[in-house]
Amino acid sequence: MTARRLDGVACAARIREDVAPRIAEFVRRHGRPPGLGVVLAGRNPASEVYVRNKIRTVGNAGCRAELFRLDETASLDDALALVGGLNADEGIDGILVQSPLPHAMGKDAEQRVFDAVDPAKDVDGFHPHNVGLLVQKRPALVACTPLGCIELLEREGITLRGKQAVVIGRSDIVGKPMALLLLHRDATVTISHSRTAGLAELTRSADILVAAIGRPAFVTREYVKPGATVIDVGINTLTNKAEVERIFPVGSRKRVQFSEKGSVLVGDVHPEVEDVAGALTPVPGGVGPITVAMVLRNTVTAAELRATGKAAV
Ligand code: NAP
Repeated sequence: MTARRLDGVACAARIREDVAPRIAEFVRRHGRPPGLGVVLAGRNPASEVYVRNKIRTVGNAGCRAELFRLDETASLDDALALVGGLNADEGIDGILVQSPLPHAMGKDAEQRVFDAVDPAKDVDGFHPHNVGLLVQKRPALVACTPLGCIELLEREGITLRGKQAVVIGRSDIVGKPMALLLLHRDATVTISHSRTAGLAELTRSADILVAAIGRPAFVTREYVKPGATVIDVGINTLTNKAEVERIFPVGSRKRVQFSEKGSVLVGDVHPEVEDVAGALTPVPGGVGPITVAMVLRNTVTAAELRATGKAAV
């Protein structure tokens, strides 16, 4: 069996098309575009790429998308002050704080800064207010990556109701909201993590398997039920030749890419899973582009909710 490829690039394009008339309507009614403010602190190379993609996608769609930089030595108070300013800015409907924040800001910095974002502008869906609404199945702004995974599953016509779903990973930004979104669509959901006993046996029971681990090619064929739908959230950059050779066969495109560039991307799912799964998201070109499209959609949703006084505050 060769798994059906769940194309995130095409899905993201359809999401952008769907959002376009909402942006035009917002501009017509309010005389300004929906606005997104992105906070980037420090110089993390991966964050630079993510932020550039988000700004470009949201800006190209006709929204205002502005980058607010803090340097590596900025303090937690600097970050909180910047977020406070964006909360007060009427032209900004969505605020996104790119993680990780610099270590110097302290251990709890991310939580403190996420908590400081006005819940009505929380396009990342990380604020406890929005998390609470999600738990109660009355979501307003939901974390972009899990929301994008659900969007892809639904647009691809994959049935969730009554299915066994296993999520590997219990982070606040992916694993937990993913599990809730699946639960709210009537899947029977198990969340697993690094302390789960008998993980492969558990995941082999899954009709829908979501891997959000951060470990290159961790999910091998023995973790996957034949015919299952597998969503690979992981984005891992490999720079080690031995690791690349362990994962990708001789003559594969990824090995060629590695010899040309010195690095390749791999998800949390091993490429051999393509022979077992019924449907699978590629990396790159799967969950990543849809996540970016959901930043756009959440920005527009936040703008509409704020403008109609229905924002979650
Ligand atoms: P995270 O906060 O580091 O969480 C990883 C989770 O995986 C934890 O719950 C951890 O368990 C679990 N885990 C680690 N090792 C495991 C093992 N051996 N067996 C079972 N579970 C294990 O990561 P995250 O922020 O959720 O991100 C996960 C991955 O998704 C990363 O590769 C990240 O880059 C990627 N990501 C992609 C997008 C996108 O747009 N495509 C967006 C966000 C994240 P414990 O809780 O027990 O430690």
